[in-house]
Amino acid sequence: MGRTDGGADYQQHCKPGLIRRLGAAWGAMFNVIFTLDYEIHGNGEGSPHELMVEPTRRLLDLFEKYGAKLTIMADVAEILKFKEYKEKSGRDDYHHGAIEDQLREAIRRGHDVQLHLHTSYFNARHQDGRWLQDWSEYNFAGLPLERLSEVVRVGKRYLEDLLKPVAPTYECVAFRAPNWSVCPSRNVVRALVENGIRIDTSVFKYGRREGIVSFDYSDAPSELVPWLADEDNMCRRNDAGKLMEVPIYCERRWIGAFLTPNRAQRVLMTRNHRITTAYHNGGDAAAVRPTLATKVIKKISMLTCLHAWKADFNQCTGRQLVGALNRASLKYAGMADELPFVLIGHSKQFTRANERSLRPFLEFVSADKARCRFAKLGETTVHWRN
Ligand SMILES: [Zn+2]
Repeated sequence: MGRTDGGADYQQHCKPGLIRRLGAAWGAMFNVIFTLDYEIHGNGEGSPHELMVEPTRRLLDLFEKYGAKLTIMADVAEILKFKEYKEKSGRDDYHHGAIEDQLREAIRRGHDVQLHLHTSYFNARHQDGRWLQDWSEYNFAGLPLERLSEVVRVGKRYLEDLLKPVAPTYECVAFRAPNWSVCPSRNVVRALVENGIRIDTSVFKYGRREGIVSFDYSDAPSELVPWLADEDNMCRRNDAGKLMEVPIYCERRWIGAFLTPNRAQRVLMTRNHRITTAYHNGGDAAAVRPTLATKVIKKISMLTCLHAWKADFNQCTGRQLVGALNRASLKYAGMADELPFVLIGHSKQFTRANERSLRPFLEFVSADKARCRFAKLGETTVHWRN
């Protein structure tokens, strides 16, 4: 469930230097936050039942065995398309009813639901059993302020109308951009703040992309400690800012750390559902394919450079995540009394194998109560020392 205290209280909480003791006699207390991007394949293919509802049901059941909390980042742009399809056709082929039931049920069971928006779905067209997206709206951060503000408003209102009847104190206060696209930040920060969004969790330090969406988060203030974002640059700390960036935990690691069976499965899935740049008004579907030279350079740098390794609970093993939390604990011992440790996942990637490999991490967090606990994104506040 979302935060229940008011804006003034939030501002107060976010002032640097404010410290609240939480009982841990030493080191930081880590709020372990599992965020789940709740969506179908990026190219508009796939069944919401298979990719969203069924894996999320298993995830909720698994989490509850350990007292863990899930924060579902619901892609409202897709969900609204599924709703429109149902209303126009009279058929619920995209399981809109089951999706809404699941989101309500998650809140009822004490989990959280916050906002994710793949804007290219707002003008999407249904054809031959898949969604042809509007690629002109694919790059979130590239949209004009008025459009960004409109889509955030629509998304927030949808979640609150859906979930307040279940929990009257529910608020949609947190956001994750599609494809981590918050660069350039100027319009994004304004659109979020204008609509009462207080938390963004799109940035992961060391992250870099070049393509339809481009960003470079190398200069982000931290891989773990939240900051109030400057309205012109999400990666610059400004203590007068109104939006708190709660980064997805990330480390720079050698390619070997990425070799897990779950990640291999993800690569296969991406390959089978490759994104094309066919515009919604019907152009030829041309796959986005790099040149040979680009491929070679990419392969060499893959082997020699360090890469952004996100705390991805689908692709990392539970043991790897335990290691990451231990490293964070050592690095930030004594720095703060309470720190969020944000993990990312995708419902479509939650396989049976993943279910098994994640257990050691869930066991670790539930057992080490002096050092960590499960938390929800919407309840994040910051208490740090300068
Ligand atoms: Zn997404």
